[in-house]
Order: sequence, then C-alpha cells, then structure tokens
Amino acid sequence: MIQLYIPLGFLGVLYREIKQSLTDLDKMFVLLEKEREIADAPGAQPLMLDGPPAVTFENVRFSYEPAREILHGISFEIPAGKTVAVVGPSGSGKSTLARLLYRFYDVTNHEPGGPHGGGRILINGQDIREVTQSSVRQAIGIVPQDTVLFNDSIEYNILYGRPDAGHEAAVEAAKAAHIHAFIEKLPKGYQTTVGERGLKLSGGEKQRVAIARTLLKNPPIVIFDEATSALDSANERAIQAELKSAARNKTSLVIAHRLSTVVDAHEILVLVHGEIVERGTHAELVARGGVYADMWALQQSGSD
Ligand code: ATP
Repeated sequence: MIQLYIPLGFLGVLYREIKQSLTDLDKMFVLLEKEREIADAPGAQPLMLDGPPAVTFENVRFSYEPAREILHGISFEIPAGKTVAVVGPSGSGKSTLARLLYRFYDVTNHEPGGPHGGGRILINGQDIREVTQSSVRQAIGIVPQDTVLFNDSIEYNILYGRPDAGHEAAVEAAKAAHIHAFIEKLPKGYQTTVGERGLKLSGGEKQRVAIARTLLKNPPIVIFDEATSALDSANERAIQAELKSAARNKTSLVIAHRLSTVVDAHEILVLVHGEIVERGTHAELVARGGVYADMWALQQSGSD
C-alpha cells in the first residue's frame, strides 16, 4: 500500500507541474502565433531615433475580428517628450491603442488599393509597419495593467530587457521604483523566486517591478496602462509619482482609469466606443462641461 501511495502522491505533484508547464506553453504558443502574424516588411530597417520621438496616430482603424471594428479612425499626436492620456469607459478601446503602438497587432487595412487604408502609426515620421518590429519594441517601455512575472528571481525580472545591466543597475532601478526596501526584506533578497511558482506579489508590487524594468530599459517612449484594480490611496499616489518620474523627458501614452493621473497631460483624449468624443487639456475639458467634466465631478465626489 505504502508503495502505491508514494507514486500517487508523486503523480499528483507531477500532474500539477505538467499542468503549469502546459499553461506556460500555451502562453508561449499564443505569443509565437502573434509573432508570426506580425512580420517585418521585406528589407525593413531599424527605427531611426534621435531623442524622444513624436508619435502619431493617423486615422487608425482596427478590428480584432472582421465583423466588429473596435477603433473607428483615431487621430492624435504625442509631441516629442510630452504625455497624452486616454480616458473612457471600459471596453472603449484604450488598451487597444497601446497594443497597436507596441505592434502586438497591425492597424487593419480596410480599403482596397493601399497599404494605409486603415490608417497608420508613425514614430518620428516612420510607419511602424515599415521598420523592424524589434527596433519598435526596443524603443518602447510598457508598464501594463497586470505585469506577468517570469518564474525566476526578482532581479531577473527587473533586468529583463537589459539582462547585461548587472546587479547594481537592478538595485538602482528598484530604489527609484521604491521597491528596494521590500526586496531586501525577502528571504533571498534579489534572488527570491517570484511568479506563479514563486512568491506571489501584490498588484502594486508587480507594477513597481514593471516600473523598475522600464527605468532600467530607459526607452524614449513609455506606455502606462494603469491598473483598473484600486490600490490603497497612499500606494496609488506613490505609484503615480514614480510613473511621473519614469516619464520625464519621454514621449508617453497613459491609459488612465483614475483622472488624477491625467491632470498634467499635454492632451487628454476621451474615447467612447472607439471614437474620440472630446479632447483637450484638463482645464479645457472641465470648462467644457461635457463627458470628461461629468467623469471628473463623479470622481471628485469620491464615488470612484
Ligand atoms: P478597460 O478600461 O476595461 O481596460 P479598454 O478601453 O482598454 O477597457 P480594450 O481592452 O481596448 O478596452 O478593448 C476594446 C474592445 O475590444 C472590447 O470590446 C474588448 O472586448 C475587445 N477586445 C479586446 N481584446 C480582444 C481580443 N484579443 N479579441 C477580440 N476582442 C478583443
């Protein structure tokens, strides 16, 4: 009997391990599948950059599925080194803008007879479909809504994107993202394993790892996709301050769920059902008394 129990217990562990590996493999295949969809144009050259670039969305249309268009012709420009913020109801297409800029997907070509039928996205005047995908991703740092951590040390996770930067650089970035003190208290410090099979981090801690990663990568463009899940207000204010310092002198796109994040933006876009219904600075939009002003009044009344 004993002999039977041991293998069964072992099989249970093995089963969980295999299931976990399959989940990782699934994710990997989904990523590989995506990579195949987005191929470099023949003879594509790397993106040419000279400091923080301007980012331009020109009449961008996009559908995940042919029958359902999500973005219906979006145009805006983030001038070099400035911040544009996007706000709007859940499902309006905010994160989709970020995914297109990072080139997870390509802008949809609707109209026959031209590669730009579905609009285009330009970085420093260069269509992101016409330069190498790797150079676009190199130029952009993302702090996503929910950071996926690798099952590896927290240091590996911070250094991801610039693995040769070394321990000291990881510590510097962690300090700037205010996660260094937390890491030092972990049982194995920077070598503590995190991720699904290691120490589970809270939403705020994961975001700080992503901020540290972005600070270390030091890209000219940053995308912040603010988490929908509310952090406590002290944590939220701290994260906002860190995001602000990470965005200094960078061209940034901020997808915001809390309007307090966007008050200083160069321009705020209000996206509803894939269309920009209002745009302007915070003061202009509040004075206008439209959708944004209503959202602002609602959040000020503390009902967010
Ligand atoms: P939230 O504020 O809730 O994060 P959002 O404004 O960022 O929402 P998106 O994530 O851009 O919205 O999604 C816009 C629309 O596209 C939604 O209706 C969503 O269901 C749909 N969508 C998102 N991702 C996919 C996908 N991979 N395949 C099909 N439809 C998708």
